[in-house]
Amino acid sequence: MECEICGKELPENNPIRAKIEGSIMIVCKECSKLGKIQKAPPKPKFVKQNNQSKRKNTTQKNRPYSRSKEPTEELIEDFSHEIRKARESKNWSREDLGRKINERVSVITRIETGKMTPDNKLTKKLEKALDIKLLEKIDNVDLNQFINTTSGERTLGNVMKIKKK
Ligand SMILES: [Zn+2]
Repeated sequence: MECEICGKELPENNPIRAKIEGSIMIVCKECSKLGKIQKAPPKPKFVKQNNQSKRKNTTQKNRPYSRSKEPTEELIEDFSHEIRKARESKNWSREDLGRKINERVSVITRIETGKMTPDNKLTKKLEKALDIKLLEKIDNVDLNQFINTTSGERTLGNVMKIKKK
């Protein structure tokens, strides 16, 4: 490296930057007196962004599962058996039950024999009339959140280990 003004050899490790007549030049110590010595521009501070937590938050926001917090209700598997059992324990005939929930006997029969699955409205009526629970809550949401969080943190841990090396 040479002084841009006088051409003198410059110490490689310590060049002087000076503003001379409006332009920054690499000069020797002598020539630097002609202008204003420029301190090396401060290195842009590497802002250590907390990308990891940001990324995690974004992931959580974009996760489709977290949009619906409603637990899913599903008809229990042996609903037909439960309905029949509950009806018989009350000493009701199928006709009695049909009258109470305002459904035809054929509907009760088909439900009790498992040939028909009651829709949500009918299930609720049966639950109320027979005082039983036919729906079970399937909490898919929490399960998925747990899985995602766990795998997410595991990935995060791996990333951090790699960066430390
Ligand atoms: Zn010089």
